Amino acid sequence: MTRKKPFWETKSLHEMSQPEWESLCDGCGKCCLNKLINDDGDIFFTDAACWLFDRHECRCLDYGNRKSKVPDCVVLKPRDISSLHWLPASCAYRVLSEGGKLADWHPLISGDPQSIHRAGISVRDRTISENDVLDLDDRIIDWIE
Ligand code: SF4
Ligand code: SF4
Repeated sequence: MTRKKPFWETKSLHEMSQPEWESLCDGCGKCCLNKLINDDGDIFFTDAACWLFDRHECRCLDYGNRKSKVPDCVVLKPRDISSLHWLPASCAYRVLSEGGKLADWHPLISGDPQSIHRAGISVRDRTISENDVLDLDDRIIDWIE
């Protein structure tokens, strides 16, 4: 019996349909965290999330209107693929753009959106709102990936 390869193994990021592209997001929530960058271009993640981020569900509270509510929210597009270095190493867009494979905990592999939370890859219940932060330097954190 032959298995049909899934779209993320046969299509480039540029070739994917909008629903396919969206489904690649594993829901880790790390792109909604504030990041700091030093003079050498090193990026430091914090645990301070965008004010519109649901810290338990790990998703945007108003995804459809996110750009109007948070103007500097980055909406990922295939054309941005060459500049995805600021995303966490676990992010599916970055993984695929670097020639890697989706991990076992990715919802597209496991078939379960909760698998990323069980695996401890997401930021579920581990963030605070940026509105409650006085100094972002105090919130720098080393996430697992
Ligand atoms: S870092 Fe990547 S996989 Fe995680 S929520 Fe953001 S876009 Fe989705
Ligand atoms: S507006 Fe929504 S998608 Fe954008 S950073 Fe904030 S929580 Fe994340």
